[in-house]
Amino acid sequence: MTLVWFTLLTLAVFFLMEGVAWTTHRYIMHGPLGWGWHRDHHEPHDKTFEVNDLYGVVGAVVGTGLFVVAWLTGLWWIRAIALGVTLYGVVYAFVHDGLVHQRWPFHWMPRNGYARRLVQAHKLHHAVQTRDGAVSFGFVFAPNPQRLSAILKARRAERAAADLPAE
Ligand SMILES: [Zn+2]
Ligand SMILES: [Zn+2]
Repeated sequence: MTLVWFTLLTLAVFFLMEGVAWTTHRYIMHGPLGWGWHRDHHEPHDKTFEVNDLYGVVGAVVGTGLFVVAWLTGLWWIRAIALGVTLYGVVYAFVHDGLVHQRWPFHWMPRNGYARRLVQAHKLHHAVQTRDGAVSFGFVFAPNPQRLSAILKARRAERAAADLPAE
């Protein structure tokens, strides 16, 4: 019985984490508070590590901290939350740092299917190098790339019409 609840809670936390990641990426990392750490991820460079990687470190500390709390208290539901958060971190690293940004030591780019859509959606997030005006802030749910392109195009046209400098 407990195993069913454990699995359900772990999965629920995993999907909830996409909402947490989206909100953090949209309002903190692209907000006045967190852009300082996120900026170099949106700028071209040839460094191995980015200041932005600190967000991953924070996530890993939170995940590990939850496992420690679960171990100290012996509570199964805290262990399920810790596992959900950590699984999300692993999938995020695989999709974002692996598939999209190819930070692994080999080249493997998905040519089709949902993995391809994930890559396209996040590449379109990087179409904008400034704090404002970006699209697609999630990492596991990929919006339709055609729709994202249309939004970007409309924003560009809007800026051109307002005679503002291009992003
Ligand atoms: Zn971003
Ligand atoms: Zn990225």
